[in-house]
Amino acid sequence: MSENLNPFAIAQAQLDEAAAILQLDEAMHQFLREPMREFHFTIPVRLDDGTTRSFRGFRVQYNDARGPGKGGIRFHPDETIDTVRALAAWMTWKTAVSDIPLGGAKGGVICDPREMSPGELERLSRGYMRRIAPYIGPTRDVPAPDVHTNPQIMAWMLDEYETLVNHHEPGVITGKPLALGGSQGRTPATAMGGLFTIRNAAELLDMSLNGTSCAIQGYGNVGSWAHRLGTEKFGLKVVAVSDEFGGIYNPHGLDPQVVSDHLWRTGKVADCPETENIANAELLELDVDILIPAAIENQLTANNAHKIRAKIVAELANGPTTPEADAILQDKGIYIIPDFLCNAGGVIVSYFEGVQNGYQYYWEEEMVNERLDRKISTAFEAVHNMAQNRQVPARVAAYLVAVTRVAEAVRLRGWV
Ligand code: GLU
Repeated sequence: MSENLNPFAIAQAQLDEAAAILQLDEAMHQFLREPMREFHFTIPVRLDDGTTRSFRGFRVQYNDARGPGKGGIRFHPDETIDTVRALAAWMTWKTAVSDIPLGGAKGGVICDPREMSPGELERLSRGYMRRIAPYIGPTRDVPAPDVHTNPQIMAWMLDEYETLVNHHEPGVITGKPLALGGSQGRTPATAMGGLFTIRNAAELLDMSLNGTSCAIQGYGNVGSWAHRLGTEKFGLKVVAVSDEFGGIYNPHGLDPQVVSDHLWRTGKVADCPETENIANAELLELDVDILIPAAIENQLTANNAHKIRAKIVAELANGPTTPEADAILQDKGIYIIPDFLCNAGGVIVSYFEGVQNGYQYYWEEEMVNERLDRKISTAFEAVHNMAQNRQVPARVAAYLVAVTRVAEAVRLRGWV
């Protein structure tokens, strides 16, 4: 039988496992299995050739018991309501495991931003904001960047929102450019947070990071920053990286500056000087100590999990490992840093951004990184302790910590 790759079915199955261990009462379990609210809409966009095209968009507010919804917006051709639901569920567990006072939400638009001009992207971004503006805000739901969205897109969305409400409201969206109330350290935050968790895992495993080999799948904001910071701040030897078009390999390590210059010139990492081209599938199976999936969901599956040779898999992407692959990696004794812990750095610094917007006073990057380290390392420790106490893998432990916190807030509110 082939694997069920529907991300929402996977997210629900993961919750079911945690609910069974926690002996969560049935009404609470059923409530947490579904989004509290979702919006589906159509965004007509005038294209550069004068024609109009309608795009489908979604915003799912999965659970806001612990605070306003929080989560990025993806622009992706393969987006579906079920991917957005899963990502919104994972945001709920991510903010809870990080112990920040926010809930979980996510947005998406079915589109291929690589085929759109800057003008078309701006009109789509503004159109998206017009659809969701009545339902969001700093005390309701706060969007942010994700796959194929970036600070410029956040800036257009912010401007559209502020135009509609006729006042400044920088805390309505995070991941903004610095000039519009963004936070120092937000752009590299997901990668930085992930590297802090890798450092913590390496300590547990008595591994040094200096010169340790590493492969990174995905070269968007998260993957490219993981390459740069992993090399410059943590001494990792990143021997392979890839984007959706293919990968590159050099056993002596890849210079992040050379790769980003090449990417800037050509639009892909393949054919970078002093490297050998490899297929994306080969990258995952390389003999490296640390493997970082930093692209999209369902990359480590029942088909390739038995070929993974890394000691640590650090899930900087959301949902990169299917449940069947997860079981195979566990059996092989691979230490998995589960996605909603490993990649929580982005939303943690988004939370800091919202705090700074609220009191209109801005922190230095050093302070942001120090506080990020403290938050994500506290979460790492809570998950590790839970894993030890319950004798479960880190992913299950992360669910136990997060679900307990969300359920407590739901109960205190008297919802269930
Ligand atoms: N899109 C990021 C994530 O998946 C960040 C979300 C946010 O900052 O709200 O965690």
